[in-house]
Amino acid sequence: MSLGLYWNRVLTMGPNGRFPKVEMYFLPVMCQECSNPPCVQVCPTGASQQMPDGIVLIDKAKCIGCELCVKACPYGSRTLNPETKVVEKCTTCVQLRESGSDPACVINCPGRCRFFGDTSDPNSTVSVAIKKAGAENVHSLPDSGNHPSVKYILHPKNGVWRKP
Ligand code: SF4
Ligand code: SF4
Ligand code: SF4
Repeated sequence: MSLGLYWNRVLTMGPNGRFPKVEMYFLPVMCQECSNPPCVQVCPTGASQQMPDGIVLIDKAKCIGCELCVKACPYGSRTLNPETKVVEKCTTCVQLRESGSDPACVINCPGRCRFFGDTSDPNSTVSVAIKKAGAENVHSLPDSGNHPSVKYILHPKNGVWRKP
């Protein structure tokens, strides 16, 4: 990955409200792994693909750098690499995961805020975190029919999102 490309933009949200009720938080916006991904639908070469597990990946050998997928992504999760002329995005660290590891951002997050897993498995770390947070605290980014898979725990009960 070249310097200047973003696979995981961290936005500063706020400050919102009026003193003393002021709120500010940070929102990482990586690929939202849409269940119905517009980036795959518009890709003319089949470079953007949805894998059997639902993860969306880019086959760089097939990418012609047309950037149709960049325009189609509702979250700005893709960028054209100006050196290689192919589009890049978060890969969910697929190579690391194939070796049994969690993604690098999950392993290295100092706040232990990030989880990766299968939400259809009620015993997965991510399912347990969502359950502990409470459904009212679990949100997705706005959905335009693309059905994002990434969930955000906002306003969590004290400490419930941290790993033991
Ligand atoms: S967030 Fe963007 S790049 Fe990721 S799957 Fe959805 S449309 Fe594609
Ligand atoms: S830039 Fe590459 S991945 Fe994106 S739509 Fe064009 S060929 Fe497909
Ligand atoms: S899953 Fe891997 S590629 Fe995606 S944001 Fe985390 S560290 Fe980056």
